[in-house]
Amino acid sequence: MPDSTADTVRVVPEDPSASAPAAHDAGVEPRLVRIAIVGGGFSGIGMAIRLKQAGIEDFVVLERAGDVGGTWAANTYPGCQCDVPSHLYSFSFEPNPSWTHTYSRQGEIWAYLRRCAQRHNLHPHLRLGHELTAATWDEQASRWLVETSRGSFSAQLVIDATGPLSQPARPAIRGLHRFEGKIFHSAEWDHEHDLEGERVAVIGTGASAIQFVPHVQPQVARLHLFQRTPPWIMPHTDRPTSSFERRLYRRLPVAQKIVRAAVYWTRESYVLGFAKRPALGRGAERISGIHLRRQVRDPELRRRLQPHFRLGCKRVLLSNDFYPALTKPNVELVTDRIVGVEGREIVLDDGSRREVDTIILGTGFHVTDPPTARLVRGIGGRTLAEMAGRSPRAYLGTAMAGLPNVFKIIGPNTGLGHTSMVYMIESQLEYVIDAIRTMDARGIARIEVRPEAVEAYNDEIQAMMQGTVWTSGCQSWYLDAEGRNTTLWPDFTFRFRERTRHFDADSYELRVGAAVPA
Ligand SMILES: Cc1cc2nc3c(=O)[nH]c(=O)nc-3n(C[C@H](O)[C@H](O)[C@H](O)COP(=O)(O)OP(=O)(O)OC[C@H]3O[C@@H](n4cnc5c(N)ncnc54)[C@H](O)[C@@H]3O)c2cc1C
Repeated sequence: MPDSTADTVRVVPEDPSASAPAAHDAGVEPRLVRIAIVGGGFSGIGMAIRLKQAGIEDFVVLERAGDVGGTWAANTYPGCQCDVPSHLYSFSFEPNPSWTHTYSRQGEIWAYLRRCAQRHNLHPHLRLGHELTAATWDEQASRWLVETSRGSFSAQLVIDATGPLSQPARPAIRGLHRFEGKIFHSAEWDHEHDLEGERVAVIGTGASAIQFVPHVQPQVARLHLFQRTPPWIMPHTDRPTSSFERRLYRRLPVAQKIVRAAVYWTRESYVLGFAKRPALGRGAERISGIHLRRQVRDPELRRRLQPHFRLGCKRVLLSNDFYPALTKPNVELVTDRIVGVEGREIVLDDGSRREVDTIILGTGFHVTDPPTARLVRGIGGRTLAEMAGRSPRAYLGTAMAGLPNVFKIIGPNTGLGHTSMVYMIESQLEYVIDAIRTMDARGIARIEVRPEAVEAYNDEIQAMMQGTVWTSGCQSWYLDAEGRNTTLWPDFTFRFRERTRHFDADSYELRVGAAVPA
């Protein structure tokens, strides 16, 4: 196993011959492929690997960025790391005995994903710098016309692996776009910009902000942290792995499997508190309260950092250095509402202002309204956004009515608040592989999930959601524009795996026939 730091791993180069001509070039035929995967993160890379393992080579991975890695290529902010132990937050079929910490840093996870792409020889399939601009269903041909910034493809199947946390969300604050200083989002960190000695505003106290604030605080002259809702924060158990552990996992892979299983089952037990008996969460709230009391002595600051919703309703965060950073003399926690930005000033609803040089947005992502929903046109030319309305829904988070021959990885209600998304991704990958096998075995050219299967499934999910901590009344990014939780899977993850183990053809309308090239 090579060293696992980002800069020691060769960048997966783009195959220059792979770049198709520009989509708008008149008369250029789209390239024919069986499968177009859109997105090169855990989902897209995992899908590509599983296709190859299943003997399917006729596919491309369309990725808008210049490298694979998805989340872990984009989020380079200081302090970025996973909050699920790495032994579980990695592919089961590609364990890494060399993790240097129990919770890996961004660079190490990014390097891991690049290495996965290399080891499985995905290079000939990768189309980096190819941004999906439109995907249109051709009913006659039973194929998708997939247009990208660098050429178009005609594909029988589209796998949407564009990720729920890949589109940075900017807050709707009056005058923000006219801010006269420097502004950037945590997922687009500007490493060229020197924060040393600056007056900096950070907007948001979510999962990213609590990781980068402790790194920004020592550099800046003044840090104003704008908090809408204080999160629940638990002590972090991250530690460096020992050389003994790493040697052990290399020589005895079963030892790492046992640790992975232990992490998995420990994390599954959290579902009892989140979904089955929310009262169990009180114990965790007490631990978080002790953590806050130990780290913040000032009772007034403590009061403003005390969450007012049930633990788990929003994502539970882990940190040992966020609270201490807030106690430093150069930090101000601002809890008044921002009403606008004028020049270099942030204006608050109490009339006060903060003049700053830089604004860092820790304001999360477009989760329930992804931009791809407006790019994909299914039956009758309707966009996914038009079909889904304000509340996205899918069957098993994977198949959507009106979108034949499309599978979505990490679609609605597959998100998690307690364990590794890679487990859910792998469950979906197996489902898709089984669907493709079924298509091949029966000579099927077109599959579309039945609307009644989608409805019944979503009614069941929403019924399961009732009584969980996720519907206990807080505002969170788990909720869509209609206030429904269409983000999380509301049960044990092994139940999701059971349901996705086999492709259930009865829930689909299947049409036999050769797929006619467009
Ligand atoms: C900072 C951060 C920390 C996280 N930590 C954890 C954690 O500890 N544990 C956990 O389980 N989950 C975590 N997550 C969630 C994480 O997003 C998932 O675990 C996982 O990485 C998602 O993989 P993905 O491939 O589905 O999506 P992504 O990794 O987001 O990849 C999607 C890819 O699609 C590409 N794309 C998007 N639109 C287009 C387009 N139009 N054309 C072409 N390409 C496009 C993007 O460039 C991106 O590369 C974290 C997320 C963030 C942002």
